[in-house]
Amino acid sequence: MSYKEDDKEGKRCLECGEVLPYGRKDMRFCSPSCKNKWHYQKGGNVKGLKMRIIGAIDRNYYILVSLLDSGITSIDIPDLVQMGYNLGCVTSYHKVRNHDEYRCYDIKYYMSESRIFRIERCQWRL
Ligand SMILES: [Zn+2]
Repeated sequence: MSYKEDDKEGKRCLECGEVLPYGRKDMRFCSPSCKNKWHYQKGGNVKGLKMRIIGAIDRNYYILVSLLDSGITSIDIPDLVQMGYNLGCVTSYHKVRNHDEYRCYDIKYYMSESRIFRIERCQWRL
């Protein structure tokens, strides 16, 4: 079977790549077992993504704790990023007056264009 003929046959199973029978436009898998495998892996990817985000938040928290332990309450963003901080992974964000307030669990800070500042522990609330 040439490559061109493959194309003409149309859609393939998303899991194993088997050519799907004609006439079933909604069909995406050659068999229920391929369908299950594909959905399982997809779920696994979301789980992996969740674990990476949780890991990044944990690392952020650890960095913030170590800054506070060293008596540091403000730091330039490039320095923070250099330490492995991921600015996109926080537990909450509020606009407070004209400041952007971020929280990572029970630690909050404000962020300007170049620095984060007023890093401090706060009451935990959702
Ligand atoms: Zn298949």
